[in-house]
Amino acid sequence: MNVAIWNPSLEAVSRDVIERIQLERLREVVHRVYNNNYHYRLKMKERGVKPEDIKTLKDIEKLPYTTKEDLRELYPFGASAVPLNHIAEIRASSGTTGKPTVTLYTMKDLENWSEVMARSLVAANIVKGDILLIAYNYHMFTGGFGFHYGALKVGITAIPAGVGFTQRQVMMIKDFGVTAITSVPNYAIRLAEVAFEMGVDPSKDTKVRKGMFGAAPWSESLRKRIEELWDMQAYDMYGLSELWGPGVAAECVYKHGLHVWEDHFVVEVVDPRTGDVLEPEEKGELVFTTLTKDAMPLIRYRTRDISRILDQKQCDCGRTHKKIDRIQGRTDDMFIINGVNIWPTAIQEVLLGEPLIAPHFQIVIDRENAMDKLIIQVESKTKLSEEDKKLLAKKLAYDLREVIMVSPIVEVVDPGTLPRFDGKPRYVIDKRVL
Ligand SMILES: [Zn+2]
Repeated sequence: MNVAIWNPSLEAVSRDVIERIQLERLREVVHRVYNNNYHYRLKMKERGVKPEDIKTLKDIEKLPYTTKEDLRELYPFGASAVPLNHIAEIRASSGTTGKPTVTLYTMKDLENWSEVMARSLVAANIVKGDILLIAYNYHMFTGGFGFHYGALKVGITAIPAGVGFTQRQVMMIKDFGVTAITSVPNYAIRLAEVAFEMGVDPSKDTKVRKGMFGAAPWSESLRKRIEELWDMQAYDMYGLSELWGPGVAAECVYKHGLHVWEDHFVVEVVDPRTGDVLEPEEKGELVFTTLTKDAMPLIRYRTRDISRILDQKQCDCGRTHKKIDRIQGRTDDMFIINGVNIWPTAIQEVLLGEPLIAPHFQIVIDRENAMDKLIIQVESKTKLSEEDKKLLAKKLAYDLREVIMVSPIVEVVDPGTLPRFDGKPRYVIDKRVL
C-alpha cells in the first residue's frame, strides 16, 4: 500500500523519543499556565500540586481536570495565557446557552494547527497534486479553516466551498477535476444524490477518489455507502474547537483507529463518573492535555467524547503515535445536527420560558435528503386551536433558532399526549439510521 507520511521525523520515531518530547513540553506548559493564568494557578493550588511536581509523564494524573464549565466561566478571554495583543484569531462554537465557547489562536497556534492538519490530510493520502473541496462551514466554526490551513501547508489545491449551494458544488467537483472531498459525513451522501439528479455519476463522472470526514458521529456502514457512491477511500478524523479544531487525531490508510498527534497532545481515557484513569482498550471519556497550544493551553480537558486507546504497539503505516478508536458516543446528552453541537438542556431552557407550554417535550432527529432534521414536539398547557398551535410553533422555532443556531421544526401537540418517563427522562429519539 502507498503510505505517505508528512513529517516522518516526528510521526515515525521511537516511543522513547515521543515520550521524551511529551515530558519536556508537559513540564513547560504546566509552568506556563501556572505563571500566566490565574484560574490554573488556583486550581493547582487547591490540589496541592506545583509545576515542579511533574517529573514523569505519569505525574500528569496529579493535575486537575479542565471542563467545558470552566471555559464557560472564563468567557470570553479568561482561559488565555498570553496578552490579548498576541491573539491572531478568535473563534467561537455554539454552546449550551447563549454564550459560545471561545478559542484563541496566536500565529504560533495557526502554524501548529496547520502542521497537525497537514499530517492528517497526508495520513489519508491526500497530498500535493490533489484538488480538495472543503465543504465545511467557514465562519466561526473551525472546520473550514482547519482543512484550509492544512491543505495550503501540504501544497494541496484548496477550494473553500463552504456548506450549501450543492448543485454548484457538484459542478465545481466535475469542472475543476476535484480529487478529494472533506465535509461532515452526511454531506458526502447529499452531494452524491444531487450529482445523480444532475445526471452525474460520482463514481464514473468525477475524479474524486478520497475523502476525509468528521465533526459528526458516523459508522462503518455509512463509510461503505460513501465509498461505493464515489468509488473513494473515506477516512475518519477527530478534533474539537477547544483543541484548535479538527486535526487532533486522524485515520491512516489502514483504517484501524485514529493516530493522536502525540507531540502536540497527551491523550488519556478516564471513567466519566469517577475520573479514574483507565487502561488501554478500556472504554471511557477522552481527556487531552495540549502540549503546544500557545494562546489557550488546556490541561486535562474533559471532552465528553467516548472512545478508547487501542493497545497496539505498532501500525503498519510506520507511525508510532497511539491510536484511538472512532468516537462511540457522548457522556452528556449532546447530539449533533448537520455538524452543529446541540444540548437538550439548551432547548429545555427556551421551552421553559414559554408560559403556554407544559414541561413535557420530545426531540426527534430524522434524516431527509441525507441532511439531519430536528423536530421538537411540545405539549401545550391547555387545548389550543389549530391556528394558535401554528402561531405558537412558529414563535418557538424562532426563539430556539436564536439559541441553538439550527432551525427546528416545532410541533405543538395537545395536553397529555407526549410520553411520560419514570426516572431519567428520554428527550431525544434519534431516527437516523447510520
Ligand atoms: Zn497507521
